[in-house]
Amino acid sequence: MFSLPPDRRENIKLTSQSVPNGGPRLEIDLEKISHNASELVNRLLKKGISVTGVTKATLGSPEIANAWIRAGVVGLGDSRVENVATMRDAKITEPMILIRTPMISQVDAVVTLTDVSFNTELSVIRKLSEVAKKKNCVHGVVLMVELGDLREGIMPEQLEKMIREVLKFSNILFMGIGTNLACRSGVSPDSQNMSELSALADSIDATFGPIVNTVSGGNSANLGWALSGVNTGRINNLRLGESLLLGCEPLQRKAIKGLHTDAITLVAEVIELKTKPSKPWGNIGQAAFGEVIIDDGAQGNITQAIFAIGRQDVDPDGLVFPDGLKILAASSDHLVVDASHYRGTLKVGTEVRFQLNYSALLRTMTSPFISKIIMKPEVNPEVILSVENI
Ligand SMILES: *Cc1c(COP(=O)(O)O)cnc(C)c1O
Repeated sequence: MFSLPPDRRENIKLTSQSVPNGGPRLEIDLEKISHNASELVNRLLKKGISVTGVTKATLGSPEIANAWIRAGVVGLGDSRVENVATMRDAKITEPMILIRTPMISQVDAVVTLTDVSFNTELSVIRKLSEVAKKKNCVHGVVLMVELGDLREGIMPEQLEKMIREVLKFSNILFMGIGTNLACRSGVSPDSQNMSELSALADSIDATFGPIVNTVSGGNSANLGWALSGVNTGRINNLRLGESLLLGCEPLQRKAIKGLHTDAITLVAEVIELKTKPSKPWGNIGQAAFGEVIIDDGAQGNITQAIFAIGRQDVDPDGLVFPDGLKILAASSDHLVVDASHYRGTLKVGTEVRFQLNYSALLRTMTSPFISKIIMKPEVNPEVILSVENI
């Protein structure tokens, strides 16, 4: 019911076969993704913290979800019921958590497809309970608390009152509390806000008896705090996406020691290679995306390469270029690059490998124009330039 239309689905299907018509692709190394997950699962286990694998940046890829399950995540979290449906269709039976507060229009699917959802609105929880009652089941609820980042969350002083109401619903199981930082405002998880979450858990238990099982402290941005040796208090779960996929933490975007940062790479092809002036000519207005091109005074000719990839496929600002290639501009379908450094090496048809930040990964993963290729260990793709080997 909540699956993607079949034609779109076909396009975005992860495949281990070669691309029939070539084209831009993501190469996904499941071994590396699984390694990243087991490393973080084990490091956090020592702190008494479990890991929920967040699949939202992978469009609910069953292959990636299964790699994480093998590595020991305790459940899968996604912000979209459509992605949960994809994983359920692939016979994944692990606990599924909707990590965005449900839309009232989707409560039916939420109760059917997920075990638990993160919530902040009583009207939504009431609906979830009604639907669960009809279906003769119980739906788990984690209440999200606002601790300063100003995205989702109940203000701490409202929490007790809310829990009192939630406990009255016949088909809702109150599971615990959570918070999410570093997303809207970049507020860093630290000893202060994490102690506040722990203290809230203690105070709820003191008021209502021991009802707080889950205390979900946050996302990949919590890793620095969690692994720094501080007392992690009552926090017993983190929800990790970016760190498992890209091997880096999102606050400074630094690589995490011992993790692979190249588990997923983007391959794109040169479709035009010409010597051209570096400066445009004619009367200059706005470019396709409203950019005003600054005249940086550059003179003379450059070797300009165009790659067959654009804003429909990727966030160009999130691409990590091989040294010596410099992005000049990106439109819907064209990525324009100064390739003077590779004059004579690059040719029309050359495939170049790029690394991605989270924003670029999200856009490529969800673009129907990008094939997603699961790499088999024996496959050694012929790629001429890569960040590592030039
Ligand atoms: C996206 C998201 C996560 C995962 O964040 P990463 O930075 O990818 O680890 C966790 N929790 C919530 C509520 C999210 O929306």
